[in-house]
Amino acid sequence: MSASLPYLIASVCFILALQGLSSPTHARRGNLVGAFGMLVAVVGTLLYAHILTFLWIGIGLMIGSAIGAAMSIWIPMTKMPERIALSHCFGGLAAALVGVSEYHHRMAFEGIDKFTMGALGLEVFLGFLTFTGSLMAFGKLQGLISGAPMTYKGQNATNVTMFFAALVLLVLLVLDPSRSFLFYLMGALGLAVGVLAVLPIGGADMPVVISLLNSYAGMASAATGFALGNYVLIIAGALDGTSGFLLSMKMSQAMNRSFANVLFGAFGAQPDTAAGGAGGPAANYNLATVEDAVGVLTAAQTVIVVPGYGMAVSQAQHAVRELAQSLEANGATVKYAIHPVAGRMPGHMNVLLAEANVPYDQLYDLEDINDEFARTDVALVVGANDVVNPAAKNNPGSPIYGMPVFNVDQSRAVIVLKRSVATGFAGIENDLFVQPNTMMVLGDAKKTLREFIAGVKEEAA
Ligand code: NDP
Repeated sequence: MSASLPYLIASVCFILALQGLSSPTHARRGNLVGAFGMLVAVVGTLLYAHILTFLWIGIGLMIGSAIGAAMSIWIPMTKMPERIALSHCFGGLAAALVGVSEYHHRMAFEGIDKFTMGALGLEVFLGFLTFTGSLMAFGKLQGLISGAPMTYKGQNATNVTMFFAALVLLVLLVLDPSRSFLFYLMGALGLAVGVLAVLPIGGADMPVVISLLNSYAGMASAATGFALGNYVLIIAGALDGTSGFLLSMKMSQAMNRSFANVLFGAFGAQPDTAAGGAGGPAANYNLATVEDAVGVLTAAQTVIVVPGYGMAVSQAQHAVRELAQSLEANGATVKYAIHPVAGRMPGHMNVLLAEANVPYDQLYDLEDINDEFARTDVALVVGANDVVNPAAKNNPGSPIYGMPVFNVDQSRAVIVLKRSVATGFAGIENDLFVQPNTMMVLGDAKKTLREFIAGVKEEAA
């Protein structure tokens, strides 16, 4: 008997899961199909593989399930990037340890052919690199180590040299797999490259790094699949590897930055506050009161909400939804404009708004809603900054010039909710805040929205 049928079913489930995850409307279904596929793959392996004792498998299953359940239940949505970094850390370590044990086992009993040695080497190098790289990413996001890029002279050259040194070791091992010290040296290099490649990257770029490490973990799993002759690992690893890589590319594109700039640019090391536009410290911001803003909102027929990172910080998604309901009760149409890199991870805004039960059909992607701002009464910007900065369209000297941004500046009125006139992630001034049709209501977004809700209800009564 072989596990071919369960593996085939699992592989189809993984492909359908990716397809399902491509849109918020069927993402839950995609997630469930993927989880079901994983269950089929695990049960298939346990039933058909030549397992000598279930004792250690049972112990591992219990510990892993306990950690997984605790992480799912207690880690809040805003900590998703940290949670994903930890999961990749475990995944990378698992792949690397399987590789080490397989190397030991084969060297002791049957020897290793060249192809398997190549696959095992890649698995161990990428697995250990993912392990330490993800740990560093977690540490930066969690504030355990400084989120600032840690750079030193010649660091990119050092990293590239170490990477090529690992490749040379891999070739030497393929030529003679019995040189076990080279195998362990390569594993050690993987651990070192993971630390040294991630430390110079700024904390806010960690989501792109995590997505790339996801891709490495996928490649390590695919290599494991080749080493063990396990087809479902090859397929799942290849899917994971390519989707992680594509996601990293898409995130870089949406920030209008090259992939190399994210990985080697130490973005955020010295924010250029002057490069953004006409703002500057003495800028004439159009500060407004809650009453002013409520007056504009109650008169509006069309409102587009633009959420950003500040909505996540303030956990204002439920208040956003409540305000939208009050405005709709008042006769207004409310839509939500979702930027691909709003917040700090892909889909950040979708996840938060879904948690607040905002209907999916009110969420619009950048390209689907950008022309509508010119016909809209009010653009309500909730803790967004860079994704609504007109400098990206008008100022060729700006670091974010060319990044696609929302045309909120074209709305009849713009209400911006943030705590201060501080800059956003890119560290640059925002011309939107000094436009004559912009009203800045300073304060925590959730608190301000609660005041808006009370004001709108009062006016309606
Ligand atoms: P920004 O980081 O540009 O701005 C967020 C704003 O939220 C800040 O200006 C801050 O102003 C405000 N804010 C913070 N806390 C609160 C609060 N409690 N209440 C109200 N406002 C608050 O966010 P955007 O979403 O506009 O842009 C995302 C940026 O992150 C882009 O530059 C993108 O390139 C980058 N990025 C995104 C990734 C992704 O995958 N989504 C990955 C990596 C980077 P103040 O302090 O004055 O309150």
